[in-house]
Amino acid sequence: MTSDVHETELLLSTVRAFMAAEIYPHEDMVDRTGSVPPELGLQIETRAKQAGLYSANMPERVGGGGLSMKAMSLIEREYGKSTHALHSWIGRPTELLLACKGDQIEKYLMPAVRGEKRELFALTEPEAGSDAMGMKSNAHRDGADWILNGSKHFISGPRMPDFAIVFAVTGVDETKRGPRKRITAFLVDVGTPGFDVREGNKSVSYRGYKTFQLAFNDVRLGPDQILGEEGKGFELAGEWLGMGRVWVGTCCCGKAERIIGLATDWAANRKQFGQPIGQFQGTGFKLADMAIGLRTADLLVADAVVRAEEGRLTDADVSMVKVYCSEMLNRVADDAVQIFGGMGLMEELPIQRLWRDSRLERIWDGTSEIQRHIITRSILRPLGA
Ligand SMILES: Cc1cc2nc3c(=O)[nH]c(=O)nc-3n(C[C@H](O)[C@H](O)[C@H](O)COP(=O)(O)OP(=O)(O)OC[C@H]3O[C@@H](n4cnc5c(N)ncnc54)[C@H](O)[C@@H]3O)c2cc1C
Repeated sequence: MTSDVHETELLLSTVRAFMAAEIYPHEDMVDRTGSVPPELGLQIETRAKQAGLYSANMPERVGGGGLSMKAMSLIEREYGKSTHALHSWIGRPTELLLACKGDQIEKYLMPAVRGEKRELFALTEPEAGSDAMGMKSNAHRDGADWILNGSKHFISGPRMPDFAIVFAVTGVDETKRGPRKRITAFLVDVGTPGFDVREGNKSVSYRGYKTFQLAFNDVRLGPDQILGEEGKGFELAGEWLGMGRVWVGTCCCGKAERIIGLATDWAANRKQFGQPIGQFQGTGFKLADMAIGLRTADLLVADAVVRAEEGRLTDADVSMVKVYCSEMLNRVADDAVQIFGGMGLMEELPIQRLWRDSRLERIWDGTSEIQRHIITRSILRPLGA
C-alpha cells in the first residue's frame, strides 16, 4: 500500500468513526425537534478539535489541518451523508478569511480557525437571491469610515455568529457593458450598534440548521473592516467560493450513497407477489440508474478536484458539478421514496428526511438554473453571442 493510499484510508476511518459516534446518533432527535441543543453542538466542536477535524480545510500556516483538496473532498463526502444541522458544528471556516490582513488576522481569521469565533457569509437579500447584483445593501464613506445600510436573509450557520462577511454596494463603475455596481466585502461584528441579527425562516431541509436575518441601520465601520479590497468583493468571493460548489457536489454523492444503500436493502427484503420487489424490473432498474448516476457524479467531482489542484478549474466546470450532483441526488432520493412505497413517507424511517434534505442542494449556492446560465455563457461567449 502506498503512503498516499494509507493516509486516505486512515483519514476516512477517522471521519467515519467520528460520524458514527458524534453525528448519526443525534439525527432523528434534531430533525424531530428542529434544533441542536447548544451543549451537543459544543460537544461536536470540542471532539472535532480533538480528532483534528476542525478547520481541516485551512492551511497549516494559519493553524488549520492543511488537507489537500482531494482529502477534503473525501471528508465532505462523508459529512454529506448526514445533516448540515450537525456536521456544520465541525467548523470549516470560509477560505475567504485568508484574505484578512494586518489586525484582521488576529481578530477574525485566527479565532475562526481555532473555533473561538463563527462567521456568516452574507450575500443573499430578500429582493436579491439569484440576482446577487441586484443587492440593495450599501455603504457610503463618512471620512475614513463607512456607513452600512440594508438587510440580508437566508444567511445560514449552526449557531448565532460572532461576525459576518457582508457584501454591499460601495459605488458604480462604468464598464464596456455599461454601469456595474462596485461590491465590497465587510467584516461586521455582532454587537456593533445598528447591526441586528436574528433567527429567520426555518427550513424543512436540514431541520435545525439555522438561517438568520441581518439588518444594518447606519452601521459605522472602520476602514480596517474591509475584507480584501474596496470594490473587489465579488472577485474575492469568486476566487474562493468555486470549491464551495464542488463541496456541495461531493456532499450530494455521500448522501446519494447512503440513500442507495437504504433503497437496496429495502428492495432486497420487501416482498410483494411472493418475491423481493427488487426483482421487478421497475424497481431493479431504478437501482441500476442510481448506481450509474452516483458513479458519474463521483467522477465529475474527482475531475474537478484534479482541475483545481492544477489551477485550471473554470466556473463552468464548477457549475457542471453543482448541477449534476445535486440533480442526481434528487433523482436518487425521489426514486428511493418510490421503492419504499408508503413507508418512504413515514417519519419512522430516515428516507423522508434524506429526501427533504436533498431538496435544498438544487437551490442553495446558486440554483440549477443559474448554474446552467454560467455553463451556457461559457459555451456562447467565445462565439461573441
Ligand atoms: C437553507 C438556506 C441556507 C442558505 N444559506 C445562505 C448563506 O449562508 N449565505 C447566503 O448568502 N445565501 C444563503 N442562501 C441563499 C441561497 O443561495 C438562495 O436561496 C439561492 O441563491 C436562490 O435565491 P432565492 O431563494 O432568492 O431564489 P430566486 O432568485 O427568487 O429564484 C427563484 C426561482 O427563479 C429562478 N430564476 C431566477 N433567476 C433566473 C434566471 N435568470 N434564469 C432562470 N431561472 C431563474 C431560480 O433558479 C429559482 O428556481 C441560503 C438559502 C437557504 C434556503
